Amino acid sequence: MSALSHARIHFNAQGTPVATDFDDIYFSNDGGLAETDYVFLQQNGLPERWYTHPRPWFHVLETGFGTGANFLLCWQRFREYRRQYPDARCQRLYFSSFEKYPLSRADLTQALSVHTELAPLCQQLLAAYPPATAGCQRLLLDGGQVMLDLWLGDVNALLPTVPEQNRVDAIFLDGFAPAKNPDMWQPGLFQQLFRLSYPGTRLATFTCAGVVKRGLSEAGFQLTKVKGFGKKREMLIAWHPQPAESLSPDRQHSVPVSDPVTIIGGGLAALTTAYALLRRGIAVTLLCADAEVAQGASHNRQGALYPNLPVKLTPQGLFHCQAFWQARQFYQHCRQLGLDFPLDYCGVLHLASTEQLAERQQKMAEAAVWPAELLQFVDAAAATELAGVSLQQGGIFLPLAGWLAPQAFCQALWRYLSTQPGFSSQFNCRVEQLSAHADGWRLHTATTTLTAQQLLVANGADLTRLAPFAALPVNRVRGQVSHVEAPDLAPLRTVICHKGYLTPAWQGLHCIGATFDRTADTAQLMDTDDTQNIAELRQQLQAPDWSQRLMVNSAKAAFRATVPDHLPLCGRYHPENTGEPAPLWLNVGLGARGLLFAPLLAEYLAAVISGEPRPLSQSTANLLSPARFNKKAAT
Ligand code: SAM
Repeated sequence: MSALSHARIHFNAQGTPVATDFDDIYFSNDGGLAETDYVFLQQNGLPERWYTHPRPWFHVLETGFGTGANFLLCWQRFREYRRQYPDARCQRLYFSSFEKYPLSRADLTQALSVHTELAPLCQQLLAAYPPATAGCQRLLLDGGQVMLDLWLGDVNALLPTVPEQNRVDAIFLDGFAPAKNPDMWQPGLFQQLFRLSYPGTRLATFTCAGVVKRGLSEAGFQLTKVKGFGKKREMLIAWHPQPAESLSPDRQHSVPVSDPVTIIGGGLAALTTAYALLRRGIAVTLLCADAEVAQGASHNRQGALYPNLPVKLTPQGLFHCQAFWQARQFYQHCRQLGLDFPLDYCGVLHLASTEQLAERQQKMAEAAVWPAELLQFVDAAAATELAGVSLQQGGIFLPLAGWLAPQAFCQALWRYLSTQPGFSSQFNCRVEQLSAHADGWRLHTATTTLTAQQLLVANGADLTRLAPFAALPVNRVRGQVSHVEAPDLAPLRTVICHKGYLTPAWQGLHCIGATFDRTADTAQLMDTDDTQNIAELRQQLQAPDWSQRLMVNSAKAAFRATVPDHLPLCGRYHPENTGEPAPLWLNVGLGARGLLFAPLLAEYLAAVISGEPRPLSQSTANLLSPARFNKKAAT
């Protein structure tokens, strides 16, 4: 796995961006979008196909995101269509675009400045544009009506990892001309595009090069030449020819239906999944064991939101980046929906507070695989400047990271969900047993039996108390966070992490955490844990002056659900000895990273359940799947 390089570009006399290494332009030299409109939209039958599209979403695949001009025009047209036909069945646009050399933010800003007619969309895109890390980054635009999946990396390497569920309705086969970029136009590219097509999927491309005609045709597409744009003689359109009747049911262009989902849980995993399902029109019933939401590991006053980046580009590290970008957008999106909870992207300083940490950070600096937008190396003076309080160590600074209030967020999200059609919740409803029946699940509480057509379990550390999950390696790890008054810490303006963490004040209190106790079996508060939290902070940070006056005001303790490989259990679960009952989904094992993981896991699960495009490659999904601990086959 190697780090991505930004595109090297310059601007020609007409102001059009040109790829220096390929000596080819990104879009037509006249600066207008008329060619994009003609070649990619009109020749794909857009916008007309949206009017009668049979599914609630339409999915476009593009090779070569470049400056995003094709995407922006498609988005603009989709907006116009939605305004014109608000009740039409097709409500959401998915646009999956593959890019090996993403433009830097500065270059993208300059390149987009010519599209004045698309200015509001350009601003949204720039605000959501991710740091250059490999993999799929889902951008939520227009409040989630438009999802841009930016798959960063080589399209030929990425396409085989795209799940079959992500089949597409239209393909914008763009890219630098085959003569200038032969590496991209491989037979495998056309075969993968065919694999991800439905019968009736259409494709348009600006080029009629022999390699493209042959490749498309050998992959199974039918094609024809049509008149090119303006003075250009010709271009190609192609389509997937197979008649629908000859296909197995799962490959048909059908409208998926999803039964209502019952969720067991009441924390970040449960609530974010409920939101992602409701957004897709799937009814949700939430069953919470406690009197209100967020009483387990999601109950903290404050929590840091940052990706834990390893020295090298590992699949786990890239998953953290993906989750981080999704989480950042999601919490922002929730604020835009009107949810009231504290959120501050003030940056996180991870201090090199031990020899081991210093060595690791040194190796990170040498490997230099993470973009500077995500991570910077700072010495003690710069760290002091950033934090606003004196620090004796340098470390790494994550400028896009920050903190939010998990419990306040869960409460706000629950209040919002309660106003939405299709959502209901029951409290003090502890499910003690599950049984599988032909028509779904029976959920037994002390006083009653409930039924569920589809069941999703997101109950954190309580998971293994339910018999079907007893064998899963989910550990209950007690953690106590101390809330302190600290008059000398008022200027603190970033989160500080060492082996533990310290937050800026919220309502006059800082959080210092957290203990990790694998043996405890009570959540009762312990004074010794507060003492330990403060002692650890002082010891790790070499007893700075401001740490002399830390007065414990209160504390919270709960059990995190952790998995030995530090990744969650997310996906379909096939319990042993229960036949093949109605679907059972898991979203647990988020450990101390609920804030980071929950939004992406929710989006992924809701996509799997609804049949919509998934924001994870199959290999990443396999990393998270409960099947890794479950002998019975699962997906
Ligand atoms: N659709 C773009 C737009 O609207 O601005 C223009 C695309 S530009 C003509 C071609 C793009 O393909 C470039 O951004 C280039 O970096 C990208 N590209 C070239 N080879 C690639 C590959 N093997 N995998 C993914 N992207 C590639």
